[in-house]
Amino acid sequence: MEIYGIPSWGQDFFDINLQGRLEVYPSGKLGPKTDLLSLVAGLQDRGLRTPILIRFPDILAKRIETLVTAFDSAILASGYKGKFRGVYPIKVNQQRHVVEEVVALGSIAKIGLEAGSKPELLIALAELETPDALLICNGYKDRAYVETALLAQQLGRYPVLVIDRFPEVELIIKTSIELNIRPHIGIRAKLSARSSGRWEASSGARSKFGLTPDEIAQTLERLRADDMLECLELLHFHIGSQITTIRAHRDALREASRIFVGLHELGAKPRMLDVGGGLAVDYDGSQTNFHSSKNYSAQEYANDVVSEIKNTCDEEGIDHPDIVTESGRWMTAHHSVLIFDVLGVDEVGVDPQPGIANQDDARVIQNMSAIWRNISRKNILESYHDAIQLREDATTFFSLGQLRLEDRARAERLFYSCAKKIQRTALELDTLPEELEELERGLADIYFGNLSIFQSAPDHWAVKQLFPIVPIHRLDEKPTRRGVFADLTCDSDGKIDQFIDQRDVKDVLELHSFQDEPYFIGLFLVGAYQEILGDLHNLFGDTDAVHVRLDVDGEVTIEHVVEGDAISEVMAYVQYEQIALVEKFRKISETALKKGDITIEDSERLKRHFSDGLSDYTYLKRNL
Ligand code: PLP
Repeated sequence: MEIYGIPSWGQDFFDINLQGRLEVYPSGKLGPKTDLLSLVAGLQDRGLRTPILIRFPDILAKRIETLVTAFDSAILASGYKGKFRGVYPIKVNQQRHVVEEVVALGSIAKIGLEAGSKPELLIALAELETPDALLICNGYKDRAYVETALLAQQLGRYPVLVIDRFPEVELIIKTSIELNIRPHIGIRAKLSARSSGRWEASSGARSKFGLTPDEIAQTLERLRADDMLECLELLHFHIGSQITTIRAHRDALREASRIFVGLHELGAKPRMLDVGGGLAVDYDGSQTNFHSSKNYSAQEYANDVVSEIKNTCDEEGIDHPDIVTESGRWMTAHHSVLIFDVLGVDEVGVDPQPGIANQDDARVIQNMSAIWRNISRKNILESYHDAIQLREDATTFFSLGQLRLEDRARAERLFYSCAKKIQRTALELDTLPEELEELERGLADIYFGNLSIFQSAPDHWAVKQLFPIVPIHRLDEKPTRRGVFADLTCDSDGKIDQFIDQRDVKDVLELHSFQDEPYFIGLFLVGAYQEILGDLHNLFGDTDAVHVRLDVDGEVTIEHVVEGDAISEVMAYVQYEQIALVEKFRKISETALKKGDITIEDSERLKRHFSDGLSDYTYLKRNL
């Protein structure tokens, strides 16, 4: 079904089968497949609940393999002498199972890890056992961070301490001398090349991390003074995530390659150039420089990285460095999908007989009904303006006590009847008047989804990032409704009302009418950043999560089950202790019992609800 653009963003991992269900091919189209609806049913049989996050490690494996192959073939084709050395930035998805999968799946290609903080460094130390894999140490560093990284060398690890801020130079030199360990040092350069897309602010001269050319020169002097110049092994830059244009990558690479040459001119001999992250994901499948897309492929990116560095090094007669990348979003986004169910729908209420009004009806109702009867292509805008005016009149008359509640309700239904007729009629026009563009959104049904946007897709709320959203079944049935999603939180921002589109952004999504049958929706490409940025808005916690692998026959194995938060757990995050809460509630019931306000049976039932409720899932079960 073209409206959901699956082939464009699905990258051979997703398709629709003859039963109208969404299928997943975790190893690509040539590998085994399963349909998501049956998978969800199987998970529910095992007692798991929706919303549920399903991770496919085989998708992760395929993405890692594709990235490594893209660089290896660019290196081979151009006669580049250095190697490709990928690292995975833990911050992109810190979940233990994900980090462990990346390390295991990337062990042959020697994929390393990037830590951006002390906790992440500890994770990397515990998880990264691949011999010769890099452990890139970025972020704000204190003495304990530096000491830990240095001492890790004695465990056979290869930590590269990247100087992100100038004061770290002294700290690293001093600590290494005291511990008598020769450090592996990197320098992060602050580039003037701007990135593109939503994260543009993390690049340029005022970016948070990185050294200016002057600071780089001073750093080299300091290292030379303590005979540590040869410890400088790596030059790093990162201009932001989700870089939408290949041009921005090229500009940054050109500048960074020149800095690399400059380091050699100043007597240092770094052997690695770390090009950071930024390799973007085409969330909307439009292949454009729109913020939720990108205008280049991974192969094109790899070719450009290799050729830009090669050209500059060849010109200056410098050995080709090993190329390090820190692509996290690209590796992980596709491998997770959140499945949620619809709990109910708020449809716009229309009048069953909009054309009929009689003498006894209020004047505003008679007039609204007349508008409905007269709507035509010729008077479409006039009818629209008149209907809006009458709706406002109805509200005013009601406030003044001149219109009964029942009549106001009818006026409202008649307004929506007019709006729908206007919308239908507008479709017959060659061009849609601008004013009527907002009608579609105003008339959309509201589908209540069993999820929290803040927990499961925080970037949609924070930076208007678009994610593909598709029903996982009924795709052989024409979707007759147009809807937006509201989540369970009582925050008015807890909604999804922007959807991917190949040419534009859609205000409404094509959906199926919702009856009593369960209706499941997939929120795709949520494997990067979404889990960890998620917060506890309204105390909706982590969802249940599973890791699903398919064997060659498509037989499903549930490898890991990570139960979502119970209500008591999210309450603990905000310092409510379960035992104390139960005790407090017991005392309240006891007082009411003593006063005779509640019976002993009801008080016991209420206490049971209270304590059982604390161990419940934070999401809802649909009442059938
Ligand atoms: N490296 C550094 C230093 C970062 O700050 C980030 C995130 O912005 C990344 C790598 C990962 O970037 P991406 O997920 O765009 O590949």
